[in-house]
Amino acid sequence: MRQQLKLDNSKKLFLEAQKHLVGGVNSPVRAFKGVGGTPIFMARGKGAYLIDVDGNRYIDLVGSWGPLILGHIPLDVLNSVRRVSRKGFTFGAPSALETELAFLVKKAYPSVEKVRFVSSGTEATLSAVRLARGATGKKRIIKFDGCYHGHGDSFLVSAGSGAATLGLPDSPGVPEELASLTTSLPYNDLKAVEEAFGRFDDIAGVIVEPVAGNMGLVPPKPGFLQGLRNLTNQHKAILIFDEVMTGFRVAYGGAQERYGVKADLTALGKIIGGGLPVGAYGGRADLMAQVAPEGPVYQAGTLSGNPLAMAAGIATLKQLSDSKVYENLEESAAFVEEGIKRAIQKTGVEAVFQRVGSMATLFFRGQPVENYAQAKEADRKKYSVFFWAMAQRGVYLPPSQFEAAFFSAALTGNDLKKIVRSVNESLEDVKEA
Ligand code: PMP
Repeated sequence: MRQQLKLDNSKKLFLEAQKHLVGGVNSPVRAFKGVGGTPIFMARGKGAYLIDVDGNRYIDLVGSWGPLILGHIPLDVLNSVRRVSRKGFTFGAPSALETELAFLVKKAYPSVEKVRFVSSGTEATLSAVRLARGATGKKRIIKFDGCYHGHGDSFLVSAGSGAATLGLPDSPGVPEELASLTTSLPYNDLKAVEEAFGRFDDIAGVIVEPVAGNMGLVPPKPGFLQGLRNLTNQHKAILIFDEVMTGFRVAYGGAQERYGVKADLTALGKIIGGGLPVGAYGGRADLMAQVAPEGPVYQAGTLSGNPLAMAAGIATLKQLSDSKVYENLEESAAFVEEGIKRAIQKTGVEAVFQRVGSMATLFFRGQPVENYAQAKEADRKKYSVFFWAMAQRGVYLPPSQFEAAFFSAALTGNDLKKIVRSVNESLEDVKEA
């Protein structure tokens, strides 16, 4: 049932936050510029749910933007973090937990022979690009419009996610000289990549979200990833898969397992930290041997590999190593997909639901979305009506058309039915708006 959402406490907290924090937030998309209104301040999470500071409860389809594949505070992860925390939060010296998590990552990713842990996805991707440049002695990076690889300087060129939501795909503060070394091409357009390799002889690497999640969910077309593999092999460039979102999400072994294509370097984040700040990059041993202290490409971190984050990651990956988790996630997401597709037909609203495993987006556009130009054609006003209509019914979606929703293993059958029911009603609201 639709209730009027009371957000009095959120409103008060947001006013106060704006006096002290830039835009009242610590990451732009949280400011709700993509949907308007007051950002909802959360008080706590529990399993599949978020409870806000006014006591409203939501089914959480954001999951902190991906990490919470098991839902909020899974018991094993909590216990593991508790146990480890008694021995120290950070040592700034090696601990056995780092090797244990590296082992789990390698087991899931045959292309990863050596790993380096960092503390965010941003660090993972910018370090991977530095390594690609250092190892090849070349400067140019190919990326794709609407893909987001964190806020590293080289990536804020036609960037997705919050940058797209705010209409800032290119950012002041990135020197032109550096930005000119990034060539951004349309996603899913292999021909454009082939042409770029013909045009430039200084391409160090190609970085791609193997399933794009930062312009809304856009799957790779059949052959796109393999084509990138072939072209990078042919031109001796490094293929970097940014699996910060897709890693341990679209399959245990991420997009590389799902699509059967191996990258030279892989960036990871989100799920491998089980909700604590972790990122990682890894790949072929000969490439990773270029990283300090084995090699000359410098990269370091005070809190990298800290025991709390490692413990959360280890406990999470252990739970996920049971393939039933992914089978159940697929079943849950497919149930919702079917319901949403029926709702679209029934209401006649122009929309298309795109999904890969437990990542999905409802685009308000009549045709499927294959790239950023098409994603931008989606009706963002309709998305914002839909977002608030869903929130009022107790379902929390990403507050932007250019972000993917994430399903968690904590969702029950009743939650799934409630999501479908809410979509049906909310699409009626969109129609009337
Ligand atoms: N790469 C991808 C594909 C991402 O989705 C994100 C964040 N959403 C990042 C990199 C950056 O990760 P972080 O926010 O942890 O720096």
